[in-house]
Amino acid sequence: MKILTFKKGVHPPQNKYLTQNMAIEYLLPEGDLVFPMSQHVGTPCEPIVKKGDKVLLGQRIGEPKDAVSVPIHSSVSGIVKDVIPYLVPGGNKVLSVIIENDKQYEKCEGLAPRKDYHNLSKQELTSIIRDAGVVGMGGATFPTHIKLTPPADEKIDSIIVNGAECEPYITSDYRVMLEETDRVVQGLKIVLYMFPNAKGYIGIEDNKKKAIEAMRNAVKNEPNIEVKVLKTKYPQGGEKQLIYAITGRKVPEGAIPAKIGCIVQNVETMVAIERSVLRGRPLMRRIVTVTGGAIQNPKVFNVRLGTSFRELINAAGGFKEEPVKIISGGPMMGIAISSIDVPVVKSTSSIVCMTAKEAALPEENVCIRCGKCVNACPMNLVPTEMNRAVVKGDYERFEKLHGMDCIECGCCSYVCPSKRYLVQSFRTAKKIIMDNRRNRGEHNV
Ligand code: SF4
Ligand code: SF4
Repeated sequence: MKILTFKKGVHPPQNKYLTQNMAIEYLLPEGDLVFPMSQHVGTPCEPIVKKGDKVLLGQRIGEPKDAVSVPIHSSVSGIVKDVIPYLVPGGNKVLSVIIENDKQYEKCEGLAPRKDYHNLSKQELTSIIRDAGVVGMGGATFPTHIKLTPPADEKIDSIIVNGAECEPYITSDYRVMLEETDRVVQGLKIVLYMFPNAKGYIGIEDNKKKAIEAMRNAVKNEPNIEVKVLKTKYPQGGEKQLIYAITGRKVPEGAIPAKIGCIVQNVETMVAIERSVLRGRPLMRRIVTVTGGAIQNPKVFNVRLGTSFRELINAAGGFKEEPVKIISGGPMMGIAISSIDVPVVKSTSSIVCMTAKEAALPEENVCIRCGKCVNACPMNLVPTEMNRAVVKGDYERFEKLHGMDCIECGCCSYVCPSKRYLVQSFRTAKKIIMDNRRNRGEHNV
């Protein structure tokens, strides 16, 4: 069996054993639900409900204001308690609709199953997916309908399902591939129907043997879909790294994968596509791994968007010891959070609660110019020089060093013996550069 991969990268401890054998548990919310109007890349939504309104399950409560945006739907029925700025996992406050759950789960009209998508045009399918609020569920939250409408001149020949799940600790996608196998395949078949010249690939790391077997079994009668086995290496699930491993093609700097004929979607996004097209369901749920050494009973939950992190942590038995760090997402690319009173949003793949032993927070030291960060960077960048430029505030040089091509994977920080805050400095620099471009009125940023 040929095992595919990319160049460079790192091998952090996986720590997936905590939840990999735990079946997904359904968790119905007890408390209020919080729906931030910005949970996707692009323009935030405008709330279209007000305090005191009755809302139904699946009802649209946030309206997109332009094309690069998707609507937000209520995942419960109940009463709108307020529309106020609320703390989100990213650490900022975002205008949010707060809904008191009446626990009746009364559905709004139009959530009917739709079995035969072959009667629909590509445009109609794209509209269904957009109206269902589907975004990239791997964490990027880029609106899926945009990815599915590449420039007309691009010839798409590869639809790649990202089942790598290379971040340590997280097992959400793994459990989806085991328990919702047919839905992943069905989602892929819908996308392949939209791109008739394309072939489907499902990329899975070789540490997920059962998922490889389940997926291979599910596609054995699908000649146009192939499961590709990938080396267990971080960041194997990075879009550019995955494309290179499977097709041998490199995405040019500043370009999108469609430029080289590829569209990549995460496994849970495929399930969201299946749910929206075949079952008329907007995006109201997601799979979240609640894990880490500080959690009493690590678990994988199927939760309604808007549920509080606190509820999930309590449902996993609470803390067995005080966590020193809680991360929304994985330990390599996730965001450390300051409060667990934040809602599950479309990007919440996991909540990792780390003990002092797991999350050693060493002090930053001077660069010893060992070159380890350069050898680890999967984007062939020079992190040590980029960091020097950021420390000096020389953003022009950071750009010249192709710093904007950094995928913020954290490989450089992981290997650095001096524990330089490399990826943190690159995130800050990229944000400053993007803000400056926006302030100059540059579009397409
Ligand atoms: S410079 Fe960016 S892309 Fe390269 S290893 Fe560091 S975080 Fe990853
Ligand atoms: S790994 Fe750390 S110490 Fe080594 S060159 Fe890179 S920044 Fe400097």
